[in-house]
Amino acid sequence: MPESVLSFIGLGSNLDEPAEQVRSALVQLQALPRCRLVSHSNLYQSKPMGPADQPDYINAVAALETSLESFELLAELQAIETEHGRVRKECWGARTLDLDVLIYDELVIDTPQLTIPHPGLPQRAFVLYPLQELVAADFIVPGMGKLRDLLDECPFEGLSIYD
Ligand code: ATP
Ligand code: CA
Ligand code: CA
Ligand code: CA
Repeated sequence: MPESVLSFIGLGSNLDEPAEQVRSALVQLQALPRCRLVSHSNLYQSKPMGPADQPDYINAVAALETSLESFELLAELQAIETEHGRVRKECWGARTLDLDVLIYDELVIDTPQLTIPHPGLPQRAFVLYPLQELVAADFIVPGMGKLRDLLDECPFEGLSIYD
């Protein structure tokens, strides 16, 4: 794969057998053109953000080696969400599948369509703890500092490993 970089993808689901949604999305990430699934975290169960009257989430993080550009990658992720029957309703409402680009190489961008690293990362235990499984102890999130420091500021709260 020429000119490939490493990207980290956040997966989440809280509808229609969430664990199966996440597992099948991992298979689809593996099958994307110009992408190789390097590793993925355990599945985690987390309490919903935003509207509380919705089921718990299942989350995971995947490491994807890719030669897609960041916006091409986003488009592929959105196509997978659509295949999983994602319907966009209220902000942070229940969904069959959510795929976020958390990190893309050392890229730091802030546009309406795509902000990388994902701006919610420092506040989200359900992203930081699975990510920690996949990287070295001294890993730095571009523009956000050491993962270890982000974890220190973000308690393992409302989160459990799902098996
Ligand atoms: P959040 O982004 O806070 O986790 P969400 O995942 O529920 O919320 P969505 O409705 O899935 O938000 O996405 C709204 C828009 O966010 C998308 O259409 C996409 O263009 C944009 N977006 C910006 N940055 C990213 C990113 N890093 N990964 C995925 N989508 C992003
Ligand atoms: Ca999200
Ligand atoms: Ca999203
Ligand atoms: Ca912004």
